[in-house]
Amino acid sequence: MLGRIFLLVFWLSIGAALGFLISPNSQHYFEFMYVGMLVSLSCAHLISSWQAENFLKWLQKPVLDSNKEHSAFWESAADRIIRLVKNKESQRLVSEESLRQFLAAIQASPHGVIILDSETRIQWSNQTASEHLGLDPKLDLQQLIGNMLRNPIFSNYVNSKSFDHEVIIEGRDHRIDSPHKVGVQLFPYGDGRMLLLSRDVTLIEQSETMRRDFVANVSHEIRTPLTVLAGFIETLQTLPLSKEEQEKYLTLMANQAFRLKSLVDDLLVLSRIEGRHLPGQHAWVSIKKILEQIEEEAVGLSVKLHPLMNDRQRIDFQLTDHDAGMEISGSASELMSAFSNLISNAIRYTPAGGTITVHWKTTDLGGVFSVTDSGPGIAPEHFARLSERFYRIDRSRSRDTGGTGLGLAIVKHVIQRHEGVMEIESKINVGSKFSLLFPMHRLRAVNKQAHVESVNGI
Ligand code: ADP
Repeated sequence: MLGRIFLLVFWLSIGAALGFLISPNSQHYFEFMYVGMLVSLSCAHLISSWQAENFLKWLQKPVLDSNKEHSAFWESAADRIIRLVKNKESQRLVSEESLRQFLAAIQASPHGVIILDSETRIQWSNQTASEHLGLDPKLDLQQLIGNMLRNPIFSNYVNSKSFDHEVIIEGRDHRIDSPHKVGVQLFPYGDGRMLLLSRDVTLIEQSETMRRDFVANVSHEIRTPLTVLAGFIETLQTLPLSKEEQEKYLTLMANQAFRLKSLVDDLLVLSRIEGRHLPGQHAWVSIKKILEQIEEEAVGLSVKLHPLMNDRQRIDFQLTDHDAGMEISGSASELMSAFSNLISNAIRYTPAGGTITVHWKTTDLGGVFSVTDSGPGIAPEHFARLSERFYRIDRSRSRDTGGTGLGLAIVKHVIQRHEGVMEIESKINVGSKFSLLFPMHRLRAVNKQAHVESVNGI
């Protein structure tokens, strides 16, 4: 302010001095000085207006040029404005960066996120929401969510205005043969806006369905022998039976009890396998020892099912000297269980007089354990489902021979846990071949003196 007063006084003095100098005589000094001051004030005003005009033009430019020179007064105003603009700009950059980080975090979320305005129009959505619900994050902006998700369950949910729970709807990739289920829930906030969160629940739904089916299957498997047992007990209690009849009933009851025990045993094996850590690579099991032990059991089962000499099956275990020295790393009990399930199936499904060949072969790619039979064979359409729990092609043959419907499920689990695969080849009325392929890194050849670590557990 003081500067402005000095400037004013300066211009007035210049005007007065010029008026004084150009006045013709002393009588007109004051008039000329007065006019001089008026003229100089007008000049000062014109110069100020011109400077202000320039300053305004500078201010209207989209980008402020900080090198441009202004008069002293406007210079300080320009400095201040430039400082303010720079401040705002850096604040804007910080906010933009925070928003970018925030949106990146929401994009990275495994949940789908959609922001809806008070009319349920889409304001923003992340990539996961598009994958879940088939929305286009750009093209579908401003669309009503009800128009985008035409699903009666979702429409009823939106109309109900009760959002304290999630609803399950079909996702973008849903097909009858390959379900895709998505859970969606709305969360109201602010002035009528809503956040829609979605999550992929396909696996959860599948495992829930599997759990329900499993419980239903187990109950069914247990109820049948129990009903038969209860019936026999009632018969024994109420009817006067001869000694032979009693014997006959007790044998039938023992069969049912054995069936129940086999089922519970297989269920326990399955649950033990599922709950355990993967078998490590440091416990080595001798192939020869496993096969020797299984051979005894196989012959026993075959004789039990075909007691007559003429009905006997031919069971052939093939193991070369080289392969007899092989060891496999993994769980001895699990491998025993898988191998004996395949052999027991071959014996149970192959009719009297048939042949069963059990073979181990070590190749450059790994080890192959195979069981070939001359049984009824399996149509290819069953292959994919054979290892499902309780899946049976011939239900009565399975039950009559003591099958639980869990054998191949156990085999599949065991081979997967040992990083291998199961292969099935079969021809109706010719026979079947089940092979378990083990990777090379789980095999080793040992010399005769080598210490076999884990066979003690067999
Ligand atoms: P199960 O206890 O009924 O034998 P598995 O899981 O071991 O159950 O086998 C599933 C089904 O696969 C069996 O019920 C049977 O129909 C079929 N199956 C398995 N192995 C053979 C085989 N070697 N020959 C013919 N059918 C077989």
